Amino acid sequence: MASQAKWVYGFGDGSAEGRADMKNLLGGKGANLAEMSNLGLPVPPGFTITTEVCTYFYDNGKTYPPELKDQVAAAVARIEASVGARFGEPANPLLVSVRSGARASMPGMMDTVLNLGLNDTTAEGLAKRSGDPRFAYDSYRRFIQMYGNVVLGVDHHHFEEILEHAKRDRGIDLDTDMKAEDWQAVIKDYKKMVESELGRPFPQDVQEQLWGAIGAVFGSWMNQRAITYRRLHEIPASWGTAVNVQAMVFGNMGQDCATGVAFTRNPSTGENKFYGEYLVNAQGEDVVAGIRTPQHLTIAGKVANKSDLPAMEEVMPEVFAQLDAVRLKLERHYRDMQDIEFTVQQGKLYMLQTRTGKRTAAAALKIAVDMAEEGLVDRREAIKRIDPASLDQLLHPTLDPKANKTVIARGLPASPGAASGKVVFTADEAEQLSGRGEAVILCRVETSPEDIHGMHAARGILTTRGGMTSHAAVVARGMGRACVAGAGELRIDHKTQTISVRNVTIKAGEMLTIDGSTGEVMLGEVPTVQPELSGDFATLMGWADEIRRMKVRTNAETPLDARTARRFGAEGIGLCRTEHMFFDPERILAVREMILAEDEAGRRAALAKIEPMQRRDFVELFSIMKGLPVTIRLLDPPLHEFLPTSEEDMAEVAKAAGQDVPKVRQRALQLHEANPMLGHRGCRLGVSYPEIYEMQARAIFEAAAEVQKSSGETVTPEVMIPLVGTKRELDILKAVIDRVAGEVQQSSGVKFDYLVGTMIELPRAALRAAEIAESAEFFSFGTNDLTQTTLGISRDDAASFLPEYQRQGIFEQDPFVTLDQEGVGELVRLAAERGRKTRADIKLGICGEHGGDPASVHFCETVGLDYVSCSPYRVPIARLAAAQAAISKERTARD
Ligand code: PEP
Ligand code: MG
Repeated sequence: MASQAKWVYGFGDGSAEGRADMKNLLGGKGANLAEMSNLGLPVPPGFTITTEVCTYFYDNGKTYPPELKDQVAAAVARIEASVGARFGEPANPLLVSVRSGARASMPGMMDTVLNLGLNDTTAEGLAKRSGDPRFAYDSYRRFIQMYGNVVLGVDHHHFEEILEHAKRDRGIDLDTDMKAEDWQAVIKDYKKMVESELGRPFPQDVQEQLWGAIGAVFGSWMNQRAITYRRLHEIPASWGTAVNVQAMVFGNMGQDCATGVAFTRNPSTGENKFYGEYLVNAQGEDVVAGIRTPQHLTIAGKVANKSDLPAMEEVMPEVFAQLDAVRLKLERHYRDMQDIEFTVQQGKLYMLQTRTGKRTAAAALKIAVDMAEEGLVDRREAIKRIDPASLDQLLHPTLDPKANKTVIARGLPASPGAASGKVVFTADEAEQLSGRGEAVILCRVETSPEDIHGMHAARGILTTRGGMTSHAAVVARGMGRACVAGAGELRIDHKTQTISVRNVTIKAGEMLTIDGSTGEVMLGEVPTVQPELSGDFATLMGWADEIRRMKVRTNAETPLDARTARRFGAEGIGLCRTEHMFFDPERILAVREMILAEDEAGRRAALAKIEPMQRRDFVELFSIMKGLPVTIRLLDPPLHEFLPTSEEDMAEVAKAAGQDVPKVRQRALQLHEANPMLGHRGCRLGVSYPEIYEMQARAIFEAAAEVQKSSGETVTPEVMIPLVGTKRELDILKAVIDRVAGEVQQSSGVKFDYLVGTMIELPRAALRAAEIAESAEFFSFGTNDLTQTTLGISRDDAASFLPEYQRQGIFEQDPFVTLDQEGVGELVRLAAERGRKTRADIKLGICGEHGGDPASVHFCETVGLDYVSCSPYRVPIARLAAAQAAISKERTARD
């Protein structure tokens, strides 16, 4: 069996052994190179060593399967036959690139080696054969540098120093001015340095070079950068990487050569226009590395970006036309926007990569809607294409157009959104400051994979060098961070810790604003405005609404939140946390007075102050919601969030309650709880002091009567009792509510419907759901508390150890963010079933944080909940996630 294992898959010359759907085995790059070969596109021949070899490598003490050597040798021979050159042959050498390629794209995280196969003799042969010694020796020195660094581990700066010296000695500024002899001298110095650093010469044997590079690529799967990237993007280490070995083609052999990267549609806006950058006479990584400022592919792109460098469309019209045809072919084939890499060698086009292009959320929406309208995909597919979490990018504030702003520089609009923060110059500082809750803007000349932790921590990223496809731009778009790239007028000075332009200097720690949609860089903090849901966003949401079954409500208690949620399409309020209505200073005093009162009379006096405020609040909420359901949860204040702690606060409460300070202090001490999250909160408070819930019920029903009378709209309040564990608790409190409802109907002369239900947020409540449903007309799963109480992990203390739990894989995700489906989810499922058995039409919803988390929303669909409720800014995310959940349920039902 083992002797038949296939570890190597060839591609090129219009056919391949692999296919696009073999990503798990061949990695994304390898699978797509195979697919492009099968499509007949011009792909330099090569082969892919599978991800299974990577797994084998790590499972077997970094060794290879015994058959691999022969399979690689045979594959190299196929390349040789195809291009008519031989690996290591002095007169006519084959050169190859060796690149990583995992299942998921991990840009710049792993190692790459180009020009492999060069040594002292083949370099000479290449010089003769190409007739361009400068090109040959430049390639050789690049190879020594890359291989020396990536495979042999020689630090960059050793190479840079030699190169700088060589240029200085010759009075040369640009690499392009170096002649063949100059490069030969550099090569000599490079080799000498490598030998003295490592104690052995730079390898001249091309087989040794090849296996060294293959080993380095597999080794780079476990480098720190790759590990961090995988953690941030939830990519399992077990996937492994493939290695792609491919015949080199050269974009740096003269003025009829070029290399570039492109997107089949604009990755920032989604516009159906070819969008890309290229460099004449340049090799591979030059474009992405942001070392030279790239030129635009199309004339339109050049004009739009006010570039004075000529477009490829003008410089190489024929090759451009071929490339444009490839673009259309790829889009039709993959039915999605592609990110491609190409090289032009002496006027001939070669395709080096295609993959699904990363895009901003706005672009994703436009592309999905356009492709559905172009007939490339159907609406369901369009809905599935959008990552619900990415909508967050569109729901962030943008700059207030009316705000004053001082624009000090402009760069490229690399990743949309506006962000303000304190200036920092290193990724570590970004991480430290943001860890302390500060907003930061990470300012760099350019970013590299070592910076990703800081980019993740920052609100925005600003670079002074690099284009729309530079590392900073690509990574920021992927992370949804605002980014302005290549703001070349700005100068970063690490010594003085400043960033400056003309006569403006900003120090580290001062505020700066960037607008990643326009490329503007502004002084200080510029005010922002709330986003609107319109255009493609609204269209796609409309399609999602037609498909989803679950309703989407919002958690809101302020008129501002309720209005925002309505704008985002909320279909009611699923949770109004009444204690949150008392956070403002004037109101909290009344609540404290009520909590600290010694007897019922004291409490009733404080409640009398609160009641009119509550009634006004509810009138406003009912009016905004215009007949949509509104679930109001009766008071659930974890006492520690409300008790006064400072002397000043105590004095204030004492004054308001007409008591002396020591008495208030004593009462506060008496109420102090060791474990407030599990203490005297929720319905327990209502059981001890029914007058509190009585006041709230009265305020709710009077408001309902008032709004119903004045607007003619039917108002059906849903009164919700928190933290119920037994049917008896619910019955005691329901009796109070029903009594007050009757009284208000009588006194107001208005008949209204109302429901009384309960939260399910304790395991006991879930287990006893059948009996609780005898009294409850609805259940709302409070999965914040249900997670806390099921896992026995305090919501307030989880942060101190949960990250470690995630690192060790005990929890894949934070269970307070993504529902623990196996544990907490099991209770939800069971309670839903038991509740329905008792009361077939019981309304079921979820109102914990999980209601806005796409994976948890999927779960809710499988349980068949009636609605999810989430914070206003998550409403569109939940609408889309609910539609996707409905689509995958249809699919499961069909299969
Ligand atoms: C819950 O516990 O899930 C809930 C929504 O209530 P709170 O977060 O207010 O405790
Ligand atoms: Mg709760």
